[in-house]
Amino acid sequence: QQFNVAVLGASGAVGQAMIEILEERAFPVGTLYPLASSRSAGDTVRFGGKNLEIKDVEEFDWSQVQIALFSAGAEVSAKWAPIAAEHGCIVIDNTSCFRYDADIPLVIPEVNPDALADFRNRNIIANPNCSTIQMLVALKPLHDEVGIARINVATYQSVSGSGKEGVSELAGQTAQLLNGRPVEPTLYPQQIAFNLIPQIDSFTDNGYTREEMKMVWETQKILGDASIAVNPTCVRVPVFYGHAEAVHVELHQPLDADQVKELLRNAPGVTLFDDEADYPTPVRDATGKDEVLVGRVRQDISHPSGINMWIVADNVRKGAATNSVQIAELLVRDYL
Ligand code: NAP
Repeated sequence: QQFNVAVLGASGAVGQAMIEILEERAFPVGTLYPLASSRSAGDTVRFGGKNLEIKDVEEFDWSQVQIALFSAGAEVSAKWAPIAAEHGCIVIDNTSCFRYDADIPLVIPEVNPDALADFRNRNIIANPNCSTIQMLVALKPLHDEVGIARINVATYQSVSGSGKEGVSELAGQTAQLLNGRPVEPTLYPQQIAFNLIPQIDSFTDNGYTREEMKMVWETQKILGDASIAVNPTCVRVPVFYGHAEAVHVELHQPLDADQVKELLRNAPGVTLFDDEADYPTPVRDATGKDEVLVGRVRQDISHPSGINMWIVADNVRKGAATNSVQIAELLVRDYL
């Protein structure tokens, strides 16, 4: 059986990766419809050995497709996902628009595949935030084994997490500064080249940023346990692709580092870097990969049931596009 698939945001960083990954993983696509705004309508994307023209979403007839992957921002999803769903199309949405609605499944296939069963509530499935996805793929086996009480996490997030504009801001500022010219930030609150910015998204009332609160809300929803305490600090770093996280997790019962490594060796979607001096990094190891890479696993010398680890993944792939395609695969395998 084949499915007609629309990709909304086809000219963007995540949308382009979605199209590549549908092809790489041989998803059973009948006809692919790449969609974006009128700005890039008429541009082409490569799929199945052909150039396909991007169409303006405003003119699209949703009854032609069974599945749609959305990554064009939350406002675009708020407008089009209900319309697509009304036409019988199942929407897998990469934005933050529906993630916290109680009747919308928020799914990481390696972590909570059963949540997908509720997709008919609104014909919409939400894909979690990139930072949450890689953290929970790595922590799920520990949670299953003894339970997680609290997570302290500091993220090191690449500029591709802000899409193609983030990539061009870092590239442009780097070139200008190396040529001795001053820079004016446009996308980020401060210069990102050769710098670190401890703010991703806007601030909320409690002093945490929205990006940080996404990690709190999504962790509790996905693991189905509102008692798990999560304390994040999210930092934008001058790296093009790949997010990294220093995670300090407090468990309900102690596990030693060897036990944790054994769990991670057998965990779906995880590659363990066992040798302490051979840790994963975004540039060498994560870019272009679909696995979540874990290194620096060690017991926390400051806490009796604490474990530290370093978690790296390609934010555009596993953090967004790959996870969405995996949700589509699960949907087709188990429900359609
Ligand atoms: P991007 O590179 O800036 O691409 C944005 C895409 O959205 C483009 O295809 C753009 O089309 C389209 N778009 C914008 N406004 C539109 C409108 N009014 N109607 C139709 N299409 C419109 O951004 P991105 O990184 O791919 O991110 C897209 C979404 O995925 C965001 O919601 C983001 O939060 C989420 N996300 C991104 C990541 C990541 O690592 N990058 C991870 C998780 C989630 P035009 O070319 O026509 O403007």
